[in-house]
Amino acid sequence: MKLHFVFPRWTKLLEDHPGLREVVSGYDIGNFRMVGLGLAAAAGAVPPGHELSLCDEHVSEPDFGVDADLVCIGFFTPQATNAYRLADRFRQAGKTVIGGGIHPTVFPEDAAPHFDSLLCGPAEGAWERIFEDLRRGGLKPRYEGKAQSSFAQPRRDLFQNSGYLRAGVVQTARGCSVDCPFCVVPSNAGRGIVFRPVEEVLEDIAGLAFPCFFFADENLLFPDVRNREYRMRLFSAMSESGNRKISFIAGYPQFVRQLKADEISLMARAKMQQIYLVLGLRRPLREELADRVLVEKMKELRGAGVEVMASFNLGNDEDCEPVEGVIERFCGDTGSNLAEFIIHTPFPGTPMFAEMEKEGRLLTKDWSKYNGANVVFAPKNESPEALLERYLALWKWFYGHINQREVSERYVRAFGSGIIRRD
Ligand code: SF4
Repeated sequence: MKLHFVFPRWTKLLEDHPGLREVVSGYDIGNFRMVGLGLAAAAGAVPPGHELSLCDEHVSEPDFGVDADLVCIGFFTPQATNAYRLADRFRQAGKTVIGGGIHPTVFPEDAAPHFDSLLCGPAEGAWERIFEDLRRGGLKPRYEGKAQSSFAQPRRDLFQNSGYLRAGVVQTARGCSVDCPFCVVPSNAGRGIVFRPVEEVLEDIAGLAFPCFFFADENLLFPDVRNREYRMRLFSAMSESGNRKISFIAGYPQFVRQLKADEISLMARAKMQQIYLVLGLRRPLREELADRVLVEKMKELRGAGVEVMASFNLGNDEDCEPVEGVIERFCGDTGSNLAEFIIHTPFPGTPMFAEMEKEGRLLTKDWSKYNGANVVFAPKNESPEALLERYLALWKWFYGHINQREVSERYVRAFGSGIIRRD
């Protein structure tokens, strides 16, 4: 069987707002490319004996005449508009096309008209049935894989080794037992956590062609006993294995503020050198940024060699006043000068999307706008234009007043010097 995987383009911050180019130039923010873990993982789950190729639309033009028995397009919501355009073109060219990834999994009725079939959820265990049906001459409308305790090793090698941020994405678990209103993880990967065996994670890290990587699962920092026990085992094993690759992870204030001193020092020994702190999503920014325990924890992390990059989420209904003052104070108190700003985005498959749809607050279903750089819903206490204006002003204000040299040094400390390949 010949399988051709396709990773559709998605619009980045600087494409939507080229006026920000000057203020963020030099920070490699807003236009980088990364190898897509979901598609690489789906390819990794294909049983041996088949021929695989891949086109990343960020890097090369798709070949609609490609010699393939099946074209497999994997995508999350910001890629969906392009994924549908590509699927339609491949089908017009006579190809059989299957769609998979987060968006078709959480919103199959939106994706189905563009594909011959959908592969929902993880790919493990589904390919054999798909191939069998293809040989018999017809795909079913939908297949579902099953989260297994052993994850397929992702085929990142299929992505062309050029122009990517030199950071891989590594998964430690699937699913989540917490139902955050803005998150697709429970509806995409299931409620409850399936942990990946530590040995498999180490093998994945060792095989990465990049000097650094991002842990995809922020629930790795959850406070409960099971998660803590898992991360202590993982960080110990990383440290003992002599791992030299630098890692980073996203975390919410509630989880970061409870990290214990022994965990922080073990994280640093395992070379987990940055936390990407997501602020303003679970609680309004004003409340989160006033949390003195968090401020002290961030200082403790920095003291141990773990940098914190703040991601400020704007658009919470309770956060409609200018927040420059509270952000400035927070950054000053914590010594933060790595930051990004995101506009609240109700992703399909989340309770937030369902609620906003019910209230008639969604302004568009052009999925290319669901990238955190556009206002796609009607805020309760201000106009969409006012929110967008505040967002753009914050980027300009933050990157207009910081010390570039200091930030560059922090970048190197947080990520190592080899994250960007300038070719
Ligand atoms: S945001 Fe994190 S904690 Fe909340 S449901 Fe998603 S994965 Fe779980």
